[in-house]
Amino acid sequence: MSLEPVFNLKGRRVWVAGHRGMVGSALVRRLSREDCEILTAGREDLDLTRQSDVRRWVADRRPEAVFVAAARVGGILANDTHPIEFLYENLMIAANVLEASARANVAKLMHLGSSCIYPRHSPQPISEGALLTGLLEPTNEAYAIAKIAGLKLAQAYRRQEGRDFISAMPTNLYGPGDNFDLASSHVLPALMRKAHDAKLSGASDMTVWGSGAPRREFLHVDDCAEALVFLMTRYSDALHVNVGCGEDQTIATLAQEVADAVGFQGALGFDASKPDGMPRKLLDISRLRSLGWSPRITLAEGLASTYQWFLRHTPGARSAA
Ligand code: GDP
Repeated sequence: MSLEPVFNLKGRRVWVAGHRGMVGSALVRRLSREDCEILTAGREDLDLTRQSDVRRWVADRRPEAVFVAAARVGGILANDTHPIEFLYENLMIAANVLEASARANVAKLMHLGSSCIYPRHSPQPISEGALLTGLLEPTNEAYAIAKIAGLKLAQAYRRQEGRDFISAMPTNLYGPGDNFDLASSHVLPALMRKAHDAKLSGASDMTVWGSGAPRREFLHVDDCAEALVFLMTRYSDALHVNVGCGEDQTIATLAQEVADAVGFQGALGFDASKPDGMPRKLLDISRLRSLGWSPRITLAEGLASTYQWFLRHTPGARSAA
């Protein structure tokens, strides 16, 4: 089944909240191919955690569609050690952007969550129905609670006021614009930087956190942006939609694939003092597929192009590689 468009972006003012983030910048790239006006606000112009500022900005700029891609994000260590920021900032962003958008009669809004909203021991692959059926993974509970609250708030505006607010739940994402800082990044860019540094320094091995046994799914952010625009224009329902590629691998396998893409030929070492987090996180994307969307970018292609992006955008990296 392929759905007819329910919301046309043509000629609309579309606010990408969080346009400098990895997802937000991919959305801006994708939306630049649509005949719409893209609205953005940098952090220096608008602090999304300040309710009155957000209300004023939205009332003034009058977006007709909103992608809530703004969030405090980070990898397992950042999440585990900064629960205040991950809970407080993400709650505030969701509450302020959704409330201001409702007040300003925004015609369509998409709230973005994450696959970490699902219980730690969800049956795999994880379907949308697994939400709130069990305890969360402790290392990202703060972020997950904020994202679940945002999803529920979008549903509440839909049920109580009839607003066309929807939610999408992307899996682990990677690609251009990713964060390659080892202390705060997710696993894929962290491994890419480690493999690159190890190759350059001639090291005999590189360190992978945890046991290497957890399984993760990775979707290229450009595929994600395609899926989000697809859902924005064709989907209108209270149930959130998983966005993934439908395949996963162990962290050990991922590390080897990243090393191969970078050209690092040394060994992989595993640091058991670092947390594994959720044992497995693979989304069931049958709902998204049945709506008519499928991913295009393979992991091998995505790793190769992301490494090229890293080389171009990291000072000194290209000349040394
Ligand atoms: P998660 O998906 O929320 O658990 O977040 P991450 O992407 O940060 O981590 C995924 C898995 O990769 C966890 O089991 C980590 O321990 C593991 N991992 C291995 N090496 C690294 C690394 O260098 N950085 C990060 N962030 N995770 C790593």
